[in-house]
Amino acid sequence: MVDTTQIKTVSLDKLAESMDEKVVVRGWVRNKRDSKAIIFVEVRDGSGFVQAVVSLDDAGQEAFDLAKSLSLETSVILSGTVVKDERQVGGCELVVDALQIVQQPAEDYPLGKKAHGVEFLGNNRHLWLRSKKQWAIMRIRNRAKYAIHTFFQERGFIQMDAPFFTGNACEGTTTLFETDFYGETAYLSQSGQLYGEAMAMALGKIYTFGPTFRAEKSKTRRHLSEFWMIEPEMAYYDLDMNMDLIEEFIKYVAADIAEKCTEELTVLERDMSLFENMKSTFPRITHSDAVRILRGEQEVNGKTTKEILESDLAAVKVRIAEINAEISKTEAEMAAGGIKKGKLNWMRSKVDKLKNELKEEEEKERNIPQWLESAINFPPGEDFGGSDETVLTRMFGTPVFVYKWPKAIKAFYMKTYEDDPEFVKGVDLLAPEGFGEIVGGAEREDNYDVLLAAIKHHELPLEAFEWYLDLRKYGSVPHAGFGLGFERLIMWLTGVHHIRETIPFPRSYGRLFP
Ligand code: ATP
Ligand code: MN
Repeated sequence: MVDTTQIKTVSLDKLAESMDEKVVVRGWVRNKRDSKAIIFVEVRDGSGFVQAVVSLDDAGQEAFDLAKSLSLETSVILSGTVVKDERQVGGCELVVDALQIVQQPAEDYPLGKKAHGVEFLGNNRHLWLRSKKQWAIMRIRNRAKYAIHTFFQERGFIQMDAPFFTGNACEGTTTLFETDFYGETAYLSQSGQLYGEAMAMALGKIYTFGPTFRAEKSKTRRHLSEFWMIEPEMAYYDLDMNMDLIEEFIKYVAADIAEKCTEELTVLERDMSLFENMKSTFPRITHSDAVRILRGEQEVNGKTTKEILESDLAAVKVRIAEINAEISKTEAEMAAGGIKKGKLNWMRSKVDKLKNELKEEEEKERNIPQWLESAINFPPGEDFGGSDETVLTRMFGTPVFVYKWPKAIKAFYMKTYEDDPEFVKGVDLLAPEGFGEIVGGAEREDNYDVLLAAIKHHELPLEAFEWYLDLRKYGSVPHAGFGLGFERLIMWLTGVHHIRETIPFPRSYGRLFP
């Protein structure tokens, strides 16, 4: 038995603070390797990881046999001494002297060591969350939430909440979840913005941070049916001030994650150039210029989309040839035999990694020509598709603001340019590396008559918007705000390919369980 009354329990993220001391650790077995006289047990406790070393000498026969019997995800309590080991993450390991099983899984753990398909992982989300990658993502999610609140709180913003049940359908009903509200039709909120405007007129600078519901009847890697949105709204802000705030905000959160989540980013193998690139100013281009750039009619730093994408494609082809050569070479070595078990495992995982990279590169090889094709033929006046956003941000390598949008493709509440009435003061922030739109914002229409005309033009039910029009009747002021999709931000910061990994229990078309 482990003596938990005399020895203090420590959490693994703080293990190094107890160097050379005796501690108790309570966690789960995530991996085990045994040799004749030593068993290495990798333990996780939610806060972090440690390699626990169980040797016959230090732990005795009984504990040694117990350690030998451990299966994946067995819950265990261990005691031992924290010793320095520079090779380990965190710089230490635990030399075990006693060990106790809390519960040994009756069956084999479903998410064993072999690779699993996405459907299987999704069905086992309740267990998948225990993996190291998910651990890293969830901790970054947590830290980002903290950084977001800190950013706004330090700048005098008031956190307020918009209702989730609404009677207003502000951007059409096609993506709304309808529900019954005491016999009345209600919708689950797809944005708190309209309420945000009312709150900003009362409290000045506010932000909401709540769940948002959209019936997106398609499976994309960027859309969830339930996601979280940060929606600041500021009285006396115009479009430029809005963009300044968005830029400061995104840079702040990214810098905070880069500083505070180094271990998590390492686990995720995040390309850190992202955080370096964030130091430069985000370009601000109008929608019309963005279209010209896409179509190859305007250069960025002396290059057209065609030139950039063609050179990307050439680089992809070179990389594919390299990977194929490396796989063949490694496989030939493995086939030749005479390799120790440890080295063989290492080679196997290297080949797996290369094959994954190959898949990604081959996908790019197929995609790039299509992206180019659709960029060059982009119809002016339209909204961008995912690939257009990828191409556009590729031209800059940093997040890019696209503002001054054609009125026809934007929401009714965006402010019309006084000198150019076909355009509105909307802005999207596009993230590079194919992550696409992460922020959508605008200066809001503050003129009663123009807004009324827009509501009529969009054939929206006037009764439902009377309260909203009131805001333009009683002390109307210029104001602006934006919505940041929290999971989109996490996707981008962590570099994960699919949005389903950025939220503990994703809800999307075809996914309601677990
Ligand atoms: P998209 O064009 O990517 O579908 P949108 O224009 O519908 O997005 P907005 O209405 O501007 O999105 O919402 C503001 C932000 O919310 C977006 O910039 C994005 O970050 C996020 N977002 C929108 N829809 C979703 C979704 N279905 N799942 C996750 N995040 C979303
Ligand atoms: Mn948008």
